[in-house]
Amino acid sequence: VKFDHNDIVSLLVQVTSLLETQAVLTNIRLAIRCEHRSLYLRCDENQIKQVLINLIKNAMEAMPEGGDVLIEVQAAEDRLHIEVSDKGKGIPNHVLAHIGEPFYTTKEKGTGLGLMITQRIIANHQGSMKIDSRFGEGTTFRIEFPLGSEPK
Ligand code: ADP
Ligand code: MG
Repeated sequence: VKFDHNDIVSLLVQVTSLLETQAVLTNIRLAIRCEHRSLYLRCDENQIKQVLINLIKNAMEAMPEGGDVLIEVQAAEDRLHIEVSDKGKGIPNHVLAHIGEPFYTTKEKGTGLGLMITQRIIANHQGSMKIDSRFGEGTTFRIEFPLGSEPK
């Protein structure tokens, strides 16, 4: 597969505007924080949008009463870091143990496919994912990839 260099900030703006209607209806604020106007990732645009949608939707669903979803993007050395944080109920250890397993869901109408697909796509892009969750405080999904460059 041939990947193109895409601006991750622009992909995030597109994805958050897709989710904005749902966010407003559920009292959620989606915020993107990035010190750069653009940061590049060599990727399949639609696959990376799918990853971002899955993580942001999970964060929204973790806060049924509403709240802030913060999406932070940073470049450090030759890596691109993306964090999606919520202030939801956190992920208990017995759920963490099954994360990424197909059809594993704790939601009445969940598919349990989101994080499996997310992990596959991240691996296809030489990336990695870490979960930092505190029960009752919230969850941060941290993903990182090799940093891309501005297309010529
Ligand atoms: P689904 O969203 O359809 O349940 P996912 O694969 O996206 O499937 O997530 C699997 C499970 O991981 C969820 O059912 C939920 O229990 C847990 N989970 C994922 N993200 C979060 C989050 N941000 N906060 C709390 N739990 C989460
Ligand atoms: Mg999901």
